[in-house]
Formats: sequence, C-alpha cells, structure tokens
Amino acid sequence: MNPIYMDYAATTPVDPQVAEKMATCLTMDGNFANPASRSHRYGWMAEEAVENARGQIADLINSDVREIVWTSGATEANNLAIKGIAEERSAQGKHIVTSSIEHKAVLDTCAYLATQGFDVTYLQPQADGTTSAQQVKDALRDDTILVSIMFVNNELGCINPIKDIAKVCGDAKVILHTDAAQAVGKVEIDVNELGVDLLSVCAHKFYGPKGIGALFVKRGVKVAEQIHGGGHERGMRSGTLATHQLVGLGEAAHICKQNLIEENKKLTQLREQLKTGLMAIDGASLNGSDQNHVSGILNMSFAGVDGESLLLSLPQLAVSSGSACNSATMAPSYVLKAIGLEDDLAHASIRFSLGRFSDSEQIKQAIEYVSTAVERLKGMAA
Ligand SMILES: *Cc1c(COP(=O)(O)O)cnc(C)c1O
Repeated sequence: MNPIYMDYAATTPVDPQVAEKMATCLTMDGNFANPASRSHRYGWMAEEAVENARGQIADLINSDVREIVWTSGATEANNLAIKGIAEERSAQGKHIVTSSIEHKAVLDTCAYLATQGFDVTYLQPQADGTTSAQQVKDALRDDTILVSIMFVNNELGCINPIKDIAKVCGDAKVILHTDAAQAVGKVEIDVNELGVDLLSVCAHKFYGPKGIGALFVKRGVKVAEQIHGGGHERGMRSGTLATHQLVGLGEAAHICKQNLIEENKKLTQLREQLKTGLMAIDGASLNGSDQNHVSGILNMSFAGVDGESLLLSLPQLAVSSGSACNSATMAPSYVLKAIGLEDDLAHASIRFSLGRFSDSEQIKQAIEYVSTAVERLKGMAA
C-alpha cells in the first residue's frame, strides 16, 4: 500500500481538471504553437491561451494582467525580484532586509548579492515564526532598497503580517517583495489591498504543474532582466512561453479561486483533528503560530524520541521531517532552530501538510501510526 500523502507543502499533485487542460496544448491537433508567432493562426491561438491564463492568475491575486511576469517557478521569481531590484536600484543604496527563515531561493540569492557588495540584514523570527512590521521598521536604514519577507513559511505554515510590513515599507519608500509560494491559492490575496510591490507565485503548490510560476510586478516598479534573449514579458523575462504549463497554472488558479473558502473550511477541520489527536501524545508540542497559520500545515515535535528513528518508523506516512539532508549528514532544520528548538527536538519534528485529496480517514490513521511509533520508540529509549 502506498503511504498516505501528507506532504502537500513540498508539492501538490496536478488537479485532474488541470492535467486535462494541459494535454490539449501539446500535439498537432492541439494548441501547440509558439505564443510569440504573430504571423499565423496557430500562434494567435496559443497567445490567447497564455493571456487567458494570465487573466486567471491576475484574478486570483487581484492584480492587473500587465503586472504578471511568467517565470519557471518561485525560485526564479525570487531571483528576478531580488536581483532585479538590487541591480536596478544599487545607485540608491545597497542594503537589503530579509528574514533568517526564508526559503533557500531567497537566502541563497541574498547571500550571492552579499558577495557583490550588498549588505543583508537577516531578521530573527519571533517565537511563533512570524516577523513583525516593527522588526522590519527597526531594520530600515537610509540605504535600504529592498525588503523580502515571505508570506507563509513553508515549514511552519505561519502567516506574516504582510499588509503591515507593506505599510512600513511604503512609508519609507522601500520596495517590498514577498515569496508567496505557500500562500497563493491558500489565503485570500489582494495585491492592491496588501500594498506589496513584488510577489512570487509557484504553480505546483496549488495543484498546477511543476516548472512554472510568476512574479507580480506592481505597475511602475522596474526589475532588471535576469534572463536575456528576445525581450519576452515586457523585457523582464525572455524565453518562449510554455503554453501547456501556463494553461495549467491558470486553470489551477481558477479552481483555487472558486473553492478557496470551502477548501479552507475542510482543511481547518482536518488540521484540528490531526492536532488534537497528536497533542494527546506525551511530549508533543506545536511549532509555529496557532493563530496565524494556513489551514493545511501542522508542524509538531515529539520530545524524548530520536528523530531519525521516528521517521524510519513511519513508512506509512509521506511527511517531511525537521531534518534536512546536507550532503552526507542530517542537519536540523534552520527554521526550527531559528524559533528556538534544540537540535534533538528539531530532529524529532514532523511537518504534516494536508491538501485537496486529504480526508478524515487518513488523519485518523496518521494519528494511530504516529502515536504507536512514538510510544514504541520511547519504550526502547527507557
Ligand atoms: C516551493 C517554494 C519555493 C520554490 O518554488 P519552485 O517553483 O519550486 O521553484 C520557494 N519558496 C517557497 C516558500 C516555497 O514553498
């Protein structure tokens, strides 16, 4: 039997309805052409499909279609946002503010910029994993050009006060970028109301295909192109547009918009069921915020058990652990360490992430598996 999939924060399966749409954009009898081909009907049709998808993602985050720049995913969107602003605005200053628990796509990009003469401040998250607007405000300097704070943390699921942070940045005339890979399709997003300048989107976190994403670039904000060649996407990102991928992203966005409230209601119940069941285990504790969190992510630690043995004792569950493979060794999660967990407890942590195809029966089984495994390991340790 296949393990129960509880790793939706790592990636989601493509929604069948999305897969069906994508399949119509590949073959000779489908919508296969280059959307940049202006001289024939095939090209026009592909362009229409791509622009329809642009409308669907714009609709989900309430942006203008002209504010959407296609990328290969959130990693590229983060690179384009951060390097693009750094390059564009380096004459005004070279200071960047971010947090220490961003995704590697942000952290590694900032680390690269630090080798290019930029100065990066890494804010330490509060105990619940969030970063406050006040923390951002206190970190701003005269030479700050960019703040990059993620919308939802991928390990903890906690939601940052992006609207308040945007206010602080707006007042200081500093650009705000947010990596919203874990937020799009999960929480209601209105970029105008939020006041962000740049927002990264990743299709495979909301039931679209892997290898595609977008960067929202607010009108009037300029990011220097990072991938040169042909001047696609209004000169911000070159490369032939992948019609099937984009149609998939668009359809996935459309489905999320339609079902957002209902889906969150279901996931909130499932998460509560899981949390209640697991909290009954002696030594169990919750990581991250119990107030400001997405409905699909639950991160918990199990004190008194060996982390590596814990995951090995749970072959029935597809989950993520508080350990990251760093070449040969297992390193405790830098996110869990940043919110104050000791190495042992970080290793003995599990991120459960639920999604569209999770159900109550799976949760019930998961509680049983984890309870049994933890009890057994504690017995062995005693
Ligand atoms: C998944 C994820 C990314 C990377 O997105 P890709 O599209 O896979 O490149 C970046 N940031 C966060 C927070 C993520 O969860």
